[in-house]
Amino acid sequence: TVNDAFLSVRDIHAWYGESYIVQGVSFDIRKGEVLSLLGRNGAGKTTTLRTLARLDSPALSQGEIWLDGEPLHTKKAFQAARSGVQLVPEDRRIIGGLTVEENLVLAQVAGNKGWSIEEVYDRFPRLAERRNQEAVTLSGGEQQMLAVARALAREIKVLFLDEPYEGLAPVIVQEIEKIVGQIRDLGITTIIVEQNAVAALRLSDRAVIMDTGQVVFSGSAQDVLDNAELREEYLAI
Ligand code: ATP
Repeated sequence: TVNDAFLSVRDIHAWYGESYIVQGVSFDIRKGEVLSLLGRNGAGKTTTLRTLARLDSPALSQGEIWLDGEPLHTKKAFQAARSGVQLVPEDRRIIGGLTVEENLVLAQVAGNKGWSIEEVYDRFPRLAERRNQEAVTLSGGEQQMLAVARALAREIKVLFLDEPYEGLAPVIVQEIEKIVGQIRDLGITTIIVEQNAVAALRLSDRAVIMDTGQVVFSGSAQDVLDNAELREEYLAI
């Protein structure tokens, strides 16, 4: 644990029905840090993010989650979102039949202090060019951009990115990496769950590796890159 933690995850346990998935996970993130949450398929990374975002499922049975001095473990998803938690899920959840701009408008909530639509367009010119295009017609990379932009339109304290590079060609991964880099430079505290560990670690300060619902390593991103055994056993890199 660190004593200046911004997000503090303390011994959380989470279940899908009878399936015990997250089995006592703890880690801390300081404000503005980027953390890679890594591990093999099925290790429980997505389930951990969903638990932190307080989605209805999985159910949190034990443990505490604190964000900027506020408890999240007592909240429901909409309350966590109001407290500044934004999860960009693996399937991105943009609304295909609406235009880029309509997707962004929907993300603007009363009294929000996130990015305005103009700010989104300034930072993601590609979205500005496609503002009147239906989201379903965007490329995978553009859809990921839109999903991130939508999260940033809300007042945000922590951003969770679930497999942002999945299904994208390497050249597009580089583009999304640039965006994640911009987000980091803006000082937004971020957790990245990613199979592409090398790409995630490049942009991360710290890393947590999970296996079968537990944390098996926690340290700096560099420590992971320097540790051949860890890389081989859990990351296949
Ligand atoms: P991946 O990269 O494959 O998504 P992950 O580390 O994110 O891996 P999770 O998606 O968190 O892993 O899945 C952890 C375990 O929980 C897996 O065994 C999975 O089958 C199970 N699981 C995931 N979603 C559900 C669900 N809705 N109901 C029951 N079990 C689930």
